[in-house]
Amino acid sequence: MSAYGLVVIGGGEAGISAALRAAQLGAKVCLINREPELGGGCVQTGTLPSKTLSNAAHFLENLKKGKRYGIPVVEGAKADYKTILESRHKTTMCEVGILATLIRKNAIETLIGTASFKGPRSVELRLLDGTVRALDSPKTVVATGSRPVALPGLPFDGKTVLSPDDLTALDAVPGRFLIVGAGVIGCEMAFIFRSLGSEVVVVEKAERALLGQDHDVAALITREFKKRGIRLLVQTGLERVETGADGRVRAFLSSGETVEADRVMVGIGRRPSTEELNLAAAGITPGPRGEIQVDERMETTVPGIYAAGDVLARFMLSSMAVVEARIAAENALGRAVKMDYTCAPWGIYTDPEVGSVGLTEEWARAGGDVVIGQCGYNDLVRSCLDGNVTGFFKLIFDGPTRRLVGAHVAGQDASEIIHFAALAVKMGARAEDLKDMVYNHPTVSEGFGKAAADALNKFGQRTPA
Ligand SMILES: Cc1cc2nc3c(=O)[nH]c(=O)nc-3n(C[C@H](O)[C@H](O)[C@H](O)COP(=O)(O)OP(=O)(O)OC[C@H]3O[C@@H](n4cnc5c(N)ncnc54)[C@H](O)[C@@H]3O)c2cc1C
Repeated sequence: MSAYGLVVIGGGEAGISAALRAAQLGAKVCLINREPELGGGCVQTGTLPSKTLSNAAHFLENLKKGKRYGIPVVEGAKADYKTILESRHKTTMCEVGILATLIRKNAIETLIGTASFKGPRSVELRLLDGTVRALDSPKTVVATGSRPVALPGLPFDGKTVLSPDDLTALDAVPGRFLIVGAGVIGCEMAFIFRSLGSEVVVVEKAERALLGQDHDVAALITREFKKRGIRLLVQTGLERVETGADGRVRAFLSSGETVEADRVMVGIGRRPSTEELNLAAAGITPGPRGEIQVDERMETTVPGIYAAGDVLARFMLSSMAVVEARIAAENALGRAVKMDYTCAPWGIYTDPEVGSVGLTEEWARAGGDVVIGQCGYNDLVRSCLDGNVTGFFKLIFDGPTRRLVGAHVAGQDASEIIHFAALAVKMGARAEDLKDMVYNHPTVSEGFGKAAADALNKFGQRTPA
């Protein structure tokens, strides 16, 4: 008989979430992680570290707003990158401490090493000292995460050519920063490093930034790039780079232009980490990107083996990873629960930030009749008061039912207030429900009521069928 009821491979956000849920349900859990530090991308390199950087950038931008109250503003105020990194380290250590306490309290056994399958019910663990240990694994959750994709012929070197995971290892703000890829991470980093003092150029192969996001969100961010002096070159690829003896880079673009930069960050996506898992031994065939495919219960094609988080190559967000993993653990322990992405929000920490849930306008229109209600941040007295009038609310309602099927907010506090719209999507709220709510005044959330009223006007203007 196995010593464990559940073996979890990967100690990032997904793995920890699965382990904690299984332990709460009474299982004896073994959590395997390659590195001694738990937390994975969320805690060590991605979510929290990047939010320390964006906090510092926002703080600097907000300092400039002191002028409206007669607070003297130091022209050219700069943040010290080393101090930002110290703050990032403190945040990471704080979260690592919280996680360690939870793991101890729930009696989860943690083993440090690299795991791979020996069969569908057995896992081999290579410990850091090279010794190998076999574990029986009646149920397994795979949560091995992802790693950044490099451009062909341009490997990451951690010094000049960086992945998003390397940014908090930089020792200073680059004077000239070239970002390849105007996806979510590329856009977030462009605003951050511009605020911190870099000259930023972003190159993007597609026809616009933030491909896949609502087109109005992408248009707003593109306008803000321009206002901030961030150069965005779309339909442009990076063909090759030359690095001089001084460490500076000359980047040759597909347009024929050459851009000089001190550092290059390539943010063109991530690939699931599955190579070391020996999935074939478990009977699992990964998808074309190496991803593990699961059903809505987070179970793979092999009964008893579940997967969650970035290794699925779906949303690649900590927020989703946590819930997917909880669902996986519950099903592994005999419950019957399904993952529902329809009301899962996501945030983009640009400036202004973005909060979205449900369908984009493009997707909604492709599916049928929709009515869109809008409200600008400049229509909200709270935004005028705060001096944050850039942005909009965009609510997408299903034409026949008037139910909310998508919401996109770009502006102050968007990543926070979007949860209200997420709940509205989940509960099947109609335009009337959102309009007739009482909103605290003055707040930015009033934008939901105004955008819903705008949609109702449009519904009212329709000729009855
Ligand atoms: C710059 C940046 C900013 C981000 N910002 C946000 C954000 O604001 N909000 C958000 O929701 N998400 C954000 N993300 C995404 C988020 O970080 C990831 O979605 C999340 O960390 C995924 O968690 P995971 O547990 O699936 O994988 P990971 O965090 O990658 O953890 C996987 C763990 O498994 C271990 N492992 C791998 N293979 C093995 C093996 N064979 N044996 C044992 N252990 C193994 C790894 O070492 C790692 O510790 C950001 C990402 C980046 C890069």
